[in-house]
Amino acid sequence: MTTTLREILSLLDATLEPGRFQDYCPNGLQVEGRGHVRRVVSGVTASAALIDAAIARGADALLVHHGYFWKGEDPCITGIKRGRLHKLLAHDISLIAYHLPLDAHPELGNNARLARELGFVPDGLLEPGNPKSIGNTATLATPAKIADFASHIEQRLGRRPQVIASGPAQIRRIGWCTGAAQGYIEQAIALGLDAFLSGEISEPTVHLAREAGIHYLACGHHATERYGVRALGEHLQQQLGVPVEFVDIDNPA
Ligand SMILES: [Zn+2]
Repeated sequence: MTTTLREILSLLDATLEPGRFQDYCPNGLQVEGRGHVRRVVSGVTASAALIDAAIARGADALLVHHGYFWKGEDPCITGIKRGRLHKLLAHDISLIAYHLPLDAHPELGNNARLARELGFVPDGLLEPGNPKSIGNTATLATPAKIADFASHIEQRLGRRPQVIASGPAQIRRIGWCTGAAQGYIEQAIALGLDAFLSGEISEPTVHLAREAGIHYLACGHHATERYGVRALGEHLQQQLGVPVEFVDIDNPA
């Protein structure tokens, strides 16, 4: 089954509506390859290792969450960036990237899919009333102690979270936002949640958690963002019939 790059982009743009977001990078087509697409590889980050995997599989397009051309970065095509772009261009592989629109999508997004993975049922937004809010809240079906909650997450994600256990004895109300969203702990505090999960942790996160009396769990940037792009690839395959293979390049961060 073969499709065109144009059809893929119009399906993905219609699904994720990138025009609704003010992002730190361009969303959609970042590097243009061949017009006909017989095979797609998806993955979290367009690293050299993922590009090599796409080349090895004869992919015509690479679909990722973390692409290139981030705001504020050096625009020159040198060093590592030159190496990655050279591989893509030499093999005529398109790079398609969706960042915030993929975090936020209520069905296929990173936050929706992480919730599904962990058995949480989203019941609201981290920023109620903001339609562009990213991240969700939920009430646990059974209240849990932090140690049990953390081992549930470890078991599901295959990675031990870093836990700042400074919240209540029983966790009921929780919130989460995938990736480097530790700054959203302030939103979780404002909502009076018992625990907040994200991917990464910073020095101030610990003090905020302790002083507000909330549990904080850093579950891994990569580990929390594996599920959205995989779901988006499955959607693409279902809709257009083009084979999409998710390749997980291990990343402990
Ligand atoms: Zn991310």
